[in-house]
Formats: sequence, C-alpha cells, structure tokens
Amino acid sequence: MTESHDLSFGDHRRDAADRRMVYPVLSRRAGGLSVGVNLNLGQECNWACVYCEVKGLTRGAPAPVDLAQLEQELDEVLGEAAKGRWSGAPEQAGAPASIKDLSIAGDGEPTLSPQFAQAVEVCVRARQRHGLEETASLVVITNGSRLQDPEVQAGVDRLHRAGGELWFKLDGGTAATRALVNGTPIPDARVEANLRRAARSCRTVVQCMVLSVDGRGPTDEDLKGRIEIIQRAAAAGAPPAGVVVYGLARPSHQPGAERLAALPQDRMAVVGERFRVLDLPLRVVQ
Ligand code: SF4
Repeated sequence: MTESHDLSFGDHRRDAADRRMVYPVLSRRAGGLSVGVNLNLGQECNWACVYCEVKGLTRGAPAPVDLAQLEQELDEVLGEAAKGRWSGAPEQAGAPASIKDLSIAGDGEPTLSPQFAQAVEVCVRARQRHGLEETASLVVITNGSRLQDPEVQAGVDRLHRAGGELWFKLDGGTAATRALVNGTPIPDARVEANLRRAARSCRTVVQCMVLSVDGRGPTDEDLKGRIEIIQRAAAAGAPPAGVVVYGLARPSHQPGAERLAALPQDRMAVVGERFRVLDLPLRVVQ
C-alpha cells in the first residue's frame, strides 16, 4: 500500500485511498469531501471533453468490475473517511457528516458500465450501512447520453428511490459549442430529450462548465442556448432541481489543453447571473 496524501480542492488524484474503484476527493461542487466510485477502469468514455482531467481517456465502454470488491472498498473508504482521515481534522466520534456525497463518477461516463444499475444498488446499500443517508448525497455524474437505455434507466430509478440525484452535464447551448467542448456535436433536440428524461426520472442538477478556449469565453448564443434548453425542459414538465455554473479549476489532460483557461472571477459572476432568469436554485463555483 502506498502512503496516502492530503487532499486539496485542486488535486483530484484517485490514489489517496489506494483502492481500485473507490477514492476520496475534496470537491468544490460538493462543498467538501466526496467519496467517488470509478466504474471506468480503462478510462473509457463516449465523449471527449476538451477540459477532461482523465489521463489516457479512450473511446469505448468499460469492462465489468468486481462488484464484491467495490462493496468492500466502499466499506473501507467510508469507514476511514468517517473517522476524518481525509477531512483535514478528525471528526468527532459518530459524526460522519463531513462526507458530503457518495458519487458515481470516475474516469469516464459511468452509465456506459454494463453494471451501472448494480453499482447504484451497491452504493445505496453502503450509504445505508454507514449511516450516511441523512448526511451524504448519493450522486451520479453523467453526460446524460445513455438515459434511454432500459438498464441505465433501472439504475436511475434506483437512485431516485434512494433519494439520490443526477448531475447532468450541459456544457454548450449549440451543437457547435458541444462539438468544441464535449467533442461530440449532439443536436439540441437530443440534449433536451436527455434532460427531460433525467429530470422526470430523478432529482437532476444541471452542471454548466464555462471556460475560455483560445482566449474566448462562452458566447451569448451558447449561454442563451443552454438557458433555453433548460427552459424548454421545464416547460415540458421536467424542471431540473437546480443549476451549477462552474469554472475550470484543474488541468485538462486532453489534446488542446493549452488552449484552455479559467474565466476571470468577475466574468464568471456575470456569466452565472445570466442563469438567474431560470428562477431555479443557482450556484456559481469559481
Ligand atoms: S463526459 Fe466526463 S469523463 Fe467523458 S470526456 Fe467528458 S468530462 Fe471526461
């Protein structure tokens, strides 16, 4: 076993706990310690986001994982996290509230895993076993592209029944922006359908990355397009539970990383304000 290291908000290395599938990170969006589950052990994804921090990202679907091992790793890492191991300061006995969420995210799109629904079940059980139902959210971070698959939907239904939530990626308001930022030019109608499906199935928080590419921040058309996609989903009876606008904080490991930069704070604030028109709970994370 390697030495563990202290966590910081800018450091999302997966090896602090020295486990294969379960890792603790300090997450800005979660607002503290997040215990992550990685089902994509070969770094497989169906998108290629320009800002993606996954090293060795590859197109494809992940192989099955050992679910018994996943359960064991969850028990070990949740147990250590509850004792304050990665929180900076030891927690008081019996107060595991420093764990903000248990999140299925990892090194690729988690819904590509053939065991996605089973992994959700494993996480639901682990959160229950560790007495975290009231204090730690159960989250699936997704690009939303596979929600039409019945197996994926079964996992989302389980997530919903456990009171969990989807963090749904919406990084562009036009197909051209999504081609640039997500490496995939999905049409608006498809993104809207995915968002409607998500928000109807489970509490869904839209996650909007904003960043500068080649010195240019998000365009008016892009921001307007994202807002309209959310508005149309809401008008169709599928309003998201909230929106998080967040900026680039960690280095991309993809080709073209040198073209990216975080927006200045004042610009982030202005961009975030644009989303107020939605009248949904809004967080802007620098
Ligand atoms: S969807 Fe997530 S894992 Fe896939 S490329 Fe984008 S940021 Fe990376």
